[in-house]
Amino acid sequence: MKQAPKIVILGAGYAGIVAAIRLQKELQYNEAEVTLVNKHDYHYITTHLHMPAAGTDHPENARVRVQELIDLQKVKFVKSTVTEILLAEKTIVLESGKLNYDYLVIGLGGEPETFGIKGLKENAFNIRSINSVRLIRTHIENQFALYKQHPDQTEYLTLIVGGAGFTGVEFAGELADRIPVLCQTYDVDQSNVRIINIEASPTVLPGFDPELVKYAIDVLKHKGVEFKLGVPVKECLEDRIVLANGEEIKARSVIWTGGIRGNHLLEEAGFEGFRGRVKVDEMLQPAGHENVFILGDCSIFLSPDGKPYPPTAQIAMQEGEVVAYNLMAKIRGQAMKPFKPSIKGTVASLGKNEAIGFVFRFKVTGWFAALMKQVIDWRYLYIIGGVQLVLSKTLFKARW
Ligand code: FAD
Ligand code: NAD
Repeated sequence: MKQAPKIVILGAGYAGIVAAIRLQKELQYNEAEVTLVNKHDYHYITTHLHMPAAGTDHPENARVRVQELIDLQKVKFVKSTVTEILLAEKTIVLESGKLNYDYLVIGLGGEPETFGIKGLKENAFNIRSINSVRLIRTHIENQFALYKQHPDQTEYLTLIVGGAGFTGVEFAGELADRIPVLCQTYDVDQSNVRIINIEASPTVLPGFDPELVKYAIDVLKHKGVEFKLGVPVKECLEDRIVLANGEEIKARSVIWTGGIRGNHLLEEAGFEGFRGRVKVDEMLQPAGHENVFILGDCSIFLSPDGKPYPPTAQIAMQEGEVVAYNLMAKIRGQAMKPFKPSIKGTVASLGKNEAIGFVFRFKVTGWFAALMKQVIDWRYLYIIGGVQLVLSKTLFKARW
């Protein structure tokens, strides 16, 4: 009997999980052997991570066990960390062994981009995973406790957010909402707490609609966030941050939201990367690799005017759908279809009941935008886990 081709999907993020779910729905019995590899046994909802990082939501609400999403009879799940991709041998090296593939889907996501800034890797926190946001929440709480021991050292209460892109702004808004609670819990005078968002560009959310940017700045300033614009972070030390203009700010909490690059494993595998991200064609394949697809934050897909689409969950999910289709087409000897992104909008949260963005080209702000953000989240949960998942993450949420 002819052996079913082996499809290996690396990463159970937005791109990988959607591809796996589509394949499990569409593939006929014995058409292919699908294996999904992820370093954790859960999928995390990255778009929520700024909330558990600030402590305004429980981390449990930002993750879903892979086995709740995948039918293990149809897709094999391997919980392990990928350490090497050997393209010539069609082999994946894992911490727990090796896997061979006929078709490979790489959805390993991104990593924080530090631009070689001294001390960032060692001294700053990143909003990237469930574990990293647990650490941020606990660290910030500890700073309030430590301040009570050393009331002359206000650097315990100075919280730096490095980079005012979407991640930075969303986190700053959430953190501002959390401060009054922390001040009450630890008997701290709120006027001693500073949240400083530092941005290299002259504006917050560079390139975004100026009217919405102004709205965001006004909301965040009103919540107590200070901005330092047009000045890059130059160095990060344990107890302070140094800016390119020579200014030093004493602070023991630096949360770096200055951008991402592609997963290092791709360049190590021999792909040419642009900040670690690999350019793919309209079938989502890198040049010269007919059996490999690269999706999500570790890939670059160019728009018709030659600009890369930003690395977003929206794009990653749509890529997951198309790759599943194209894999089935390849296996069945049919024609693949090109990826055509459909951008439905962008909504960024600014904390409780506040957000900004575009939904189908309409500008939205305030509580309505916040509601839209919620609807987008529900839609995603519905796509990956149906009504049951929407209910379990809304009505039956984990609480502190
Ligand atoms: P990821 O979702 O990062 O998934 C990668 C997966 O690979 C993870 O499960 C990881 O554990 C696994 N992995 C990594 N390395 C290994 C390894 N070596 N071995 C095994 N497994 C590994 N985008 C939007 O469109 N809308 C938003 O509102 C939005 N909000 C965001 C808010 C925040 C705070 C952040 C940080 C990002 C946000 N984004 C948003 C961007 C979005 O989250 C990413 O673009 C999206 O997660 C990319 O999906 P992905 O599948 O490429 O990677
Ligand atoms: P980003 O690259 O979009 O923003 C990083 C910001 O840091 C930029 O504004 C940059 O100018 C600034 N920066 C870089 N170096 C700096 C330095 N030395 N000092 C000070 N500032 C510096 O990264 P992000 O915000 O993490 O977003 C990553 C991707 O995820 C983007 O594609 C974004 O669209 C997406 N995202 C979307 C949402 C949403 O839709 N709600 C939320 C979060 C992230």
